Amino acid sequence: MKKNALPLFVLLLFTAIGAVVAVLRENRWYFPMFTGIGAMAMVTVILTRRYPRLSQTIRLIQLSGLGIFLFAGLSLRLNVNFQFPQVIFDGAAGIVSGALVQLLIARVTVPLVFGNGFCSRACWDAVAFELADQGWKSRRAGSGKKRSEWLAWGYLGALILLAVVVSRLHNPVYDDEARYWWLIGENIWIIVFGLGLAGLLGRRAYCRLLCPFLTLSGLLAPLSVFKMAPVNAAACTACSLCNSACPMKVDIMAAVQDRRRIRDRQCILCERCADACPKGCLRITAGNPLQ
Ligand code: SF4
Ligand code: SF4
Ligand code: SF4
Repeated sequence: MKKNALPLFVLLLFTAIGAVVAVLRENRWYFPMFTGIGAMAMVTVILTRRYPRLSQTIRLIQLSGLGIFLFAGLSLRLNVNFQFPQVIFDGAAGIVSGALVQLLIARVTVPLVFGNGFCSRACWDAVAFELADQGWKSRRAGSGKKRSEWLAWGYLGALILLAVVVSRLHNPVYDDEARYWWLIGENIWIIVFGLGLAGLLGRRAYCRLLCPFLTLSGLLAPLSVFKMAPVNAAACTACSLCNSACPMKVDIMAAVQDRRRIRDRQCILCERCADACPKGCLRITAGNPLQ
C-alpha cells in the first residue's frame, strides 16, 4: 500500500461509516463523530510512521483520546449504551438502537478490515487496563493463561441469560434513568473486575480470557485485511521477546518462523511484539484476508 494510502483510507472508511449511520439513525451527529474518529486514527498512523520509537506512547494517547471521545460522545451525549446486554434489552423491547449499530460496526464491519484493532485503539475500558499495565509491566510481563473458548463462550452465555432475565423484570430501555445507570454500572464492573483479574492473572486478563466483544470479533479477525506479519523473518533469532511482550498470549514467534501472517483470534494489533523485536521482524501489513 502506498505511503499516504493507509491514513487516507482510514479517514474515508470512518467518514463513510458516519454518513451511513447518520442516515440510518436519522441523527446528523454521527457524521462529525465518525469523521472525528477517522481523523484521529489517521493522525495516529502518520505520527507512528514518523516517530516509530514512540509508537506505543502514540497508541496509548490515541486509545485514551478515542476511548474517552466514544464514551463521552456516543454513550453520554447520544445515550448509546455500548455494552453487550443493551442489544438484548433492545431486542426484548423489539427496537433497534445504537447498541446494535455499534455492535455491527465495531464487531462485524471493522474486524473485517482491522481485526480486533478496536481493542488496542478505541476501547475506553482498555484505557484503564493499559494504564494499569504501565505500573505492573515488569512484574506481570509474560505471565497469564491463553483464552479458553469454553470459558469465553460460557461467560457470553451467562451474560445473555442475565440480560434476558433483567429485560423480563424491568427492561432499562423503558426508563432513561435505569438505562443511564446500566451504562455507568457495566463499565465500572468491567474496569474493576478487569483490574482485579489483571492483578491475579496478568495483563489484559479480562480481554484475554472473557470479554464477550472479543469472543465475537475474534471470529472475524482471522479474515481481516490488516494483520501482524513477518517482514524480516530471516533475521529472527528465536529470542522470544515478541511472545513475552504480547498481552494476549499469541505465539507470534512461531508465526515468524513459519513465515505466516498472524491469524490468531486474540491478536488486538497493539504492535507490542513489533516494538519488542530487536531485529525488526514484524509489522502490520495489508494483504489477502484468507492468509
Ligand atoms: S477485549 Fe473487550 S474490554 Fe478488552 S479492549 Fe477489547 S472490547 Fe475492550
Ligand atoms: S501478536 Fe503482537 S499485535 Fe497481536 S496482540 Fe500480541 S503483541 Fe499485540
Ligand atoms: S522478538 Fe524478533 S527476533 Fe526475537 S523471536 Fe520475536 S521475531 Fe524473532
